[in-house]
Amino acid sequence: MAAALPTEAVERVVERLLRRHGAGQEERIRRGVEQVAARWWPEDGDAEELGAFCEASFQADPAELERSFRRLEQVMEQVDGHLHEVRRELMGPIEVDRGPAAPATAVDALLVHLDLAPHVDEDLFRERIAGFALLNFPIHTLRRRLAESGGWDRAAWARSAMMDRFACRVPAAVTQAANRVATAAEEYVSTYNIRLDRLLTPSGERPFPEGLRLISHWGLRDQLASHYADPDAAGALARQRLILRVMERIVRQEIPAAAIDNPGLLWEPESNAVQPLAPAPPDATPAALAAPPAPPAPPGPARGPRDPLPPGQNELAAREPDRRYERLLAIFRAQRRVDPYTPTAPSLPARRFELGRQIPEEEVEALLVSVLEAPEVDALAGEIARRLGRPLEPFDIWYSGFKARGRHGEAELDARVKAAFPTVADFQAALPELLGRLGFAAERAAWLAAHIVVDPARGAGHALGAVRREDRAHLRTRVGEAGMDYKAYNVAMHELGHNVEQVFSLDGMDHWWLAGVPNNAFTEAFAFLFQERDLELLGLAPRAEDRDASCLGTLWNTYEIAGVSLVDMRVWRWLYAHPDAAPAALREAVLAIAREVWDRFFAPRLGHPGCEVLAIYSHMIAYSLYLPDYALGHIAAFQLAARLRQVEQAAGARPGAVGAELERIARQGRLTPEAWMRGAVGAPLSAAALLAAARQALESVPGDAAGAAAQL
Ligand SMILES: [Zn+2]
Repeated sequence: MAAALPTEAVERVVERLLRRHGAGQEERIRRGVEQVAARWWPEDGDAEELGAFCEASFQADPAELERSFRRLEQVMEQVDGHLHEVRRELMGPIEVDRGPAAPATAVDALLVHLDLAPHVDEDLFRERIAGFALLNFPIHTLRRRLAESGGWDRAAWARSAMMDRFACRVPAAVTQAANRVATAAEEYVSTYNIRLDRLLTPSGERPFPEGLRLISHWGLRDQLASHYADPDAAGALARQRLILRVMERIVRQEIPAAAIDNPGLLWEPESNAVQPLAPAPPDATPAALAAPPAPPAPPGPARGPRDPLPPGQNELAAREPDRRYERLLAIFRAQRRVDPYTPTAPSLPARRFELGRQIPEEEVEALLVSVLEAPEVDALAGEIARRLGRPLEPFDIWYSGFKARGRHGEAELDARVKAAFPTVADFQAALPELLGRLGFAAERAAWLAAHIVVDPARGAGHALGAVRREDRAHLRTRVGEAGMDYKAYNVAMHELGHNVEQVFSLDGMDHWWLAGVPNNAFTEAFAFLFQERDLELLGLAPRAEDRDASCLGTLWNTYEIAGVSLVDMRVWRWLYAHPDAAPAALREAVLAIAREVWDRFFAPRLGHPGCEVLAIYSHMIAYSLYLPDYALGHIAAFQLAARLRQVEQAAGARPGAVGAELERIARQGRLTPEAWMRGAVGAPLSAAALLAAARQALESVPGDAAGAAAQL
């Protein structure tokens, strides 16, 4: 347990080292001993043992320190890199599709649970390697790094990054408990399905087709968004309103527990009444009950609204008793037990923002608010209302009408992609050419392609970077029997963006400790940049209106996700202010926060004050404080895109100039977002580039929106 040693004992160790190394080293000695003592547990030995260790391990000679730093860097690249390769091998049969001859087997299902990394972290402390680093190198909190890094060289950045690895020592049991509740929450949200085919409107209609079962919130949101393409506008609107009502019942925990994922019940979300689907007649024989189900009925009236409710109604209507908020509370309580072991970031928000993202929470909030309050969003809301021909409603936060691909049918796109990439090997072979068209010189394109292995994915696709420089990055993509389809290709281009960033920020680096990007949002920015250009790379010339539509779609998405991110952040602040809250109190707090964010930033454009729909995201329940990365990723992508356009348009730009600029930017590595973005584009992280692009796009829109944009 932290701080087990009395202050006087620590002071005696400091004096012991001072006698040996002299007062000139006092600042380093004091800091080093305190850093070790704060992470010294009874099982590591008594104060005498701490003193002996510190005396033997403290280094005063700068040349010796430099050698130790280099050695730790070299060794940890191999340790972490090989562990990563072991993990990739264990996960291989689950993630990579090697065809029917190589299915995942029962032993593979066991092997995926083998994770060696936590043992290494434990051993780094037990074997006192972490203690050695803590004694000799300073840990920087984010605030200190931001304040002091202005004058740092690359080695200073790398030493600071190294100490992030040793700053936290959390007991395995505490970590395991936190992982257990996180997994339980993940399971809760990943099995929370709603039978849309069993929903009733107040007038007794069943507007969704038989078999439509969707997960909350992802599936419900995507279904809602898909109705914008529905030619039957009135029907679409009624379905969207019904889905919104479902979401409201879920966040308020008024949803009848029996109605969740139950094909046997009909649920009318407006009145919240439930009833059995088709009660078996009393004389039904077992044979009749076992008969094959009737063919799916077309959507339409199923039952009149005034039919008497069957008995047992009250029992069926019992609400889901705050399970959603119990899950979140369990995560909060487990995280509170982690807090004392992460002294540089002693709360979950601090760990997410300061250790993970390296941006203070209040700065992220200010960035989000800069989008939420932007006049460009007012103009965009007006444009969406004009396109819909009606005032906006709350679910229009998921408006999806800005589509760049409208003029190419899905079939045409599929055919083009299939012809270009009939197999995984064809996609691998095409990488140098694709990268060349993305702006890389031939030699760099070949070098990048040689560092990326394309694998056939079982899932939708993902990018798995390397950790050791001797290894290669993997691009997992799905290629069907008949070749790759457009959807898979679009995902593959996104993953290629990740891979290119991963290769430059590892293989091109001066210091391994700086491998990577400031945080997730920055690798997403690279992925968005590549994904954006998918049609162009298929040989379909880009059009200005496509780019405009895509930009407006991105601003609207960023606005929506900024809202839900803000709710997530404020809920965590409330949790830390009310550590003993019961689930019902948390529920009321979440709803109040959702209303507050809606009323402030959404009601002025979409009306309906008091709307609680911003509380629906499952991320908030199972992936705490992850949401802001989506908004930050879009914001950063627009800044990078603007910079690359400048390079492209600069007088005398040679071929490969854009690629060279991307390489320079990626090779900065894991600095703070602030330092990285300044190095990349000469300005801090800001939504200005996104908003400027949206302003321009709004000006080229015909009709009222152009007028609104002109007044901005
Ligand atoms: Zn991504």
